[in-house]
Parts: sequence; structure tokens; C-alpha cells
Amino acid sequence: MFEKLVDFIKSLYPTESPVPLNAPRFSGNEKKYLTDCIDTTYVSYVGEYVRRFEKAIQEFTGAKYAIAVSSGTAALHVALLLAEVGPGDEVITQPLTFVATANAISYCGGEPVFVDVERTTLGIDPGKLNEFLLNNGILKPDGRCYNTITGRKIAACVPMHTLGHPTRIDELIEICQKYHIPVVEDATEALGSFYKGQHTGTFGDMGILSFNGNKPVTTGGGGMIITNDEALATKAKHLTTTAKRPHPWEFVHDEVGYNYRLPNINAAVGCAQMECFAGVLENKRTTAQMYDPFFQEIGIPFITEPAHARSNYWLNAILLKDRRERDQFLAYATGEGIQTRPVWALISTLPMYRHCQCTPLETAPWLEERLVNIPSSVRI
Ligand SMILES: *Cc1c(COP(=O)(O)O)cnc(C)c1O
Repeated sequence: MFEKLVDFIKSLYPTESPVPLNAPRFSGNEKKYLTDCIDTTYVSYVGEYVRRFEKAIQEFTGAKYAIAVSSGTAALHVALLLAEVGPGDEVITQPLTFVATANAISYCGGEPVFVDVERTTLGIDPGKLNEFLLNNGILKPDGRCYNTITGRKIAACVPMHTLGHPTRIDELIEICQKYHIPVVEDATEALGSFYKGQHTGTFGDMGILSFNGNKPVTTGGGGMIITNDEALATKAKHLTTTAKRPHPWEFVHDEVGYNYRLPNINAAVGCAQMECFAGVLENKRTTAQMYDPFFQEIGIPFITEPAHARSNYWLNAILLKDRRERDQFLAYATGEGIQTRPVWALISTLPMYRHCQCTPLETAPWLEERLVNIPSSVRI
């Protein structure tokens, strides 16, 4: 069975050996725009490509505002600061995510609370979130939600659109609104993914995108905060650009800001990538449509987009029988020159987060043992 699977993957990527999991592709104006940056000397924090890239993301996602930053992690950090997450606060997220989601909470002095995910979306289970807040959340006279057991403020919720598959974000937000909990959507894997016709990352108070090397659009490294809230957008720009008051020559900074700016050369690559993005999405969707019937035939569950969602199919994934079969497959595929990866170890099991609160975890550990990502690069 593994042999058939490896042959099939090789047939999708006949020119690549080994077959990478998700290689970046540069088939548009990347070189041209980079040359332009060097020729004009605008390689750093000043230059037109940053503004152009922000506009491209704004138009593509339908968000009113987009603020480019140096990484997805930096974007998460600043968004949580703007949601006023502070020392001692709790922030709800999922145990099945990349570590950056939880780390950004820590940077603000907050502590993650892990709510189990669901099988269909791989994201936070709305029923379990609701149950957690019913049992543990109470609105206090200051208008904020507190955890009745720890006494701490539940300052924000960070759902993640896992592997590009949209969560049931509307339901999650409805629950959070009842408890006055701001929502920061970790859409770092979900550029090009829509839920009920609306782009992921535009439902919550803020949404986060990432452009690192393996993301659907790459700038080498980079990130973006998207929002429909003008005040948040203004603050995000200010805080990520060292909190400098605009002035032609004076250096006046009015709070502790961050140098989280995206350099112009990175933004230049992003502009070129966005010009080709429609084709990228189509190509990735077709790949998923080739995988799906193949896996149906050999009887391995292949993860497809949830109801009401249009996924970018960032990383294709299958579910193997158990950890043993998973490890056998990973070893076999690696030996055959096919890059495959298990899903992340649950964040709630890592040494720095082991002590954090969790709802009873059933689905997340089940997925952790079985889920394997398989090659998903754009086919050339
Ligand atoms: C990629 C990713 C990030 C961080 O993005 P960087 O740009 O690498 O800092 C955060 N959260 C999730 C879920 C991611 O996949």
C-alpha cells in the first residue's frame, strides 16, 4: 500500500527528487522587482513595495486594513498586545497548532488555555469552547470575562485555521462575543481560504497572515495583520514601526514600540507572488482533487475542506491507522525520497506549556498520532 502511495506522489512531481513537502515557487516578477529594489537602493524599510503588498492583501482578502510586519509570529504578538493581553491573563487557543501561536501569548505575559479541536475542521471545537466558558467563564462588572477557577481574565481567543482548512469561525466568534472575548484569528496557513464566502482572518477583531518560506505566499519571511477596525490598524502600524510620531526629521517615539517592519525587498517578492496567486490556488486545488479519489480507492482517509469552506489546501494530509502505521509510513516515504511530516506535537505537551489548563483532550491527541502531511507544492 505504501509503495502504491509513494509511486502516486512521484507521478505528481516527476521532475523533483527528493520530492519536497511544500517548496516555494518563483515563476513571476520576483527577480524583476528585486532588481528594482537594488537598482533604486530601496532595499530596507522605505519603498513602495510594502504599500503595494499591503494593498494587494487588502484587496484579495477584503479586509479594510492590512499592516505588513516581519513575521507571522510578530504579527500575532502585536495583535495580542492590541487586544490588551497582559501579564497573568489567559488566552484560549488550540493544542494542535504551530508553537508560535502559544509563544505569542507568552510574549505578552499571558498563558494559553487549550480547548480541544474537532475532526472535521481540525480547529477549536465550538461545542467544547462553549462548555468550557459555561463552566469556567463569568462576566464581571468591568465588562470582561474571568475564569472562575483561576480568577484570571480570559483576555482573548486565538483560533487557528489548521493546514488552511477554515474553522467554524462564525460560531466561535458568537460564543466569544457572549463573553466579551476578543478574537484574533491565526490565519497564517490560510491565505486563499474562505468560509461562507468570506476570507479567513477577516471575521475576528484581527487576523494574522504569515509569508515564511513554506506558506502559500512567501516573502522569504514576513507577516501581516488584517482588520476592519481603523483604530486597531492605526495602532498596529504605530507599534510595529517603533512607535515613531510622523515627522520629516525629528525622532519622537511615544511608547515602547517594536521594529517589526517588513523590508521592501521582502514585500517586493510578495507583490510578485500575489500576481500569480490565483493560479497557485487552482493548482493546489487540482492536486487535492487528484489525491482524493486515489486515497478513497486505497482506503486511507484524506482530509478535504469542511462544510461551507473553500480551502487553499496549503498542506495535504492523510490519517493513518495509529502511531505505529504513521511511523512506518514516515520511515518508508523518507527512504524513498518523499518528504512527509507528522503533524506538530501537541503544544500542551511541550515543557513550557505542560502546566497550562486544557479541556479534556480527545480529538487533538487522536489526530497527533495519525495525521501525516504529504507533498503539496505547486505542480510544475
Ligand atoms: C507559520 C505559522 C506561524 C508563524 O509564522 P512565521 O511567519 O513563521 O513567524 C504562526 N502560527 C501558525 C499556525 C503557523 O503555521
